[in-house]
Amino acid sequence: MLYINGEWRPANSGKTMEVINPATGEKIADVASAGKGETQEAIEAANAAFSIWRKRTAQERSAYLERIADKLQEKKEELARTITTEMGKPLGEARREVDSSAAYVKWFAEEAKRVYGETIPANQSDKHLMILRQPIGVAAAITPWNFPLSMIARKIAPAIAAGCTVVIKPAPATPLSAMKMFECFDEADLPKGVANLIIGPAEEVGPVLTGSPIVRKITFTGSTAVGKLLLKQSADTVKKVSMELGGHAPFIVFEDADLEAAAKGAIATKFVNNGQTCICTNRIYVHESIKEEFGKILAEKARGLKVGNGLEDGVNVGPLINQASYEKVQRHVQDAVAKNGQVLCGGNPYEEDGLGGYFFEPTVITNATEDMQIATEETFGPVAPIFSFKEEAEVIEKANNTPYGLAAYFYTSDLSRGLRVMAELDYGIVGLNDPAPVTPQGPFGGYKESGIGREGGKSGILEYLEEKYISIHMI
Ligand code: ADP
Repeated sequence: MLYINGEWRPANSGKTMEVINPATGEKIADVASAGKGETQEAIEAANAAFSIWRKRTAQERSAYLERIADKLQEKKEELARTITTEMGKPLGEARREVDSSAAYVKWFAEEAKRVYGETIPANQSDKHLMILRQPIGVAAAITPWNFPLSMIARKIAPAIAAGCTVVIKPAPATPLSAMKMFECFDEADLPKGVANLIIGPAEEVGPVLTGSPIVRKITFTGSTAVGKLLLKQSADTVKKVSMELGGHAPFIVFEDADLEAAAKGAIATKFVNNGQTCICTNRIYVHESIKEEFGKILAEKARGLKVGNGLEDGVNVGPLINQASYEKVQRHVQDAVAKNGQVLCGGNPYEEDGLGGYFFEPTVITNATEDMQIATEETFGPVAPIFSFKEEAEVIEKANNTPYGLAAYFYTSDLSRGLRVMAELDYGIVGLNDPAPVTPQGPFGGYKESGIGREGGKSGILEYLEEKYISIHMI
């Protein structure tokens, strides 16, 4: 169902689309599939609500967000099961996603109250200069399937905290989590029109959102290719944009690193969500003196990961989202093997009775080289390639040699090296001996072709605010 102007409704055409469980290949739901007309209606509802919502006090907006965060926690189990059923991640990870969504909503409930203006020392004694921060207007959000709940939370919460209203289009693969999120909005009595949900094909909905002069902000998480398209489409109406795009994260293990901790970190950053996150490790660079030992530890840990339907207990790695992802993973492995990569574990599709989806074995490949597809393309799957290096400067250059710049990780126990390397990496997020840097307190976003803008942190809310400079002459 769509949620427009505070009401649940089907598409005008009565059209629906199927939602598939990637662990079984079975259909789990039919949901409304909207087109241009409903998108325009949602934009108009958001616009009408904006003139009211922006005038609510920060405390009032904050109170709504607090209630939404509480609803998310109350429905944690139901939400987690929805996430797992429609996109496959293990239930434990899905529960953490619900926690993280609630945490982002709470963070922005607090930030709503701290949108301070400024006064500026004036250039003349008879002038007063000041800055007001005001909500930018209607924001359109387009979100991906890999974090079907938290990506929505990270966009809608700062928008409505700032006083904006929102139209959101979730990924067609994962509309059910979005609908559950909107149930929370509904139950928290969020005023009508403040948040609107449009489920429908990207080619229909996308251009209406980007083309509308009413929409003043586009916030997107997804592939770099689609991000570039949205940037172009948004140019005609000169929208403010936030883009969280692809990544190709390096993971560097220096010779002085704690190998056990580094291997644990590599497993966490590589195999979380079956490798399907934009901050997942893509290239593991290990100092040549410890490459063999590290490869052994990593392969042993990867072999210990349990593959299966995420609803089952003890599963660490679920299915890939679809056939195209599955084929890409296979292509990367085959290409690496053809170029003399050595498979230390995995390397094949994972088959087991009763599993119908796209499963692949957690895979570690050593002797990786720069000419392999996996060295430059985002795999978005459970394959860990190990490269080796000799010198610090060399590995920094290799790590930075990509159009992407989202997340990078490195392990060392040398403090001076830590300080040097963290400054040199051209990435928006750096984990130093830390595989889990993401938290609402921290700004999330990329350098270079990984994006524009930040989500979370103290900068997150600024993405939805305009800065108005006022000069007063006392005549
Ligand atoms: P992925 O490859 O992970 O599915 P995409 O970038 O294709 O990532 O999708 C992320 C989001 O962008 C989804 O909600 C998808 O429907 C949407 N999307 C894809 N193509 C377009 C487009 N041309 N215009 C607007 N949205 C799009």
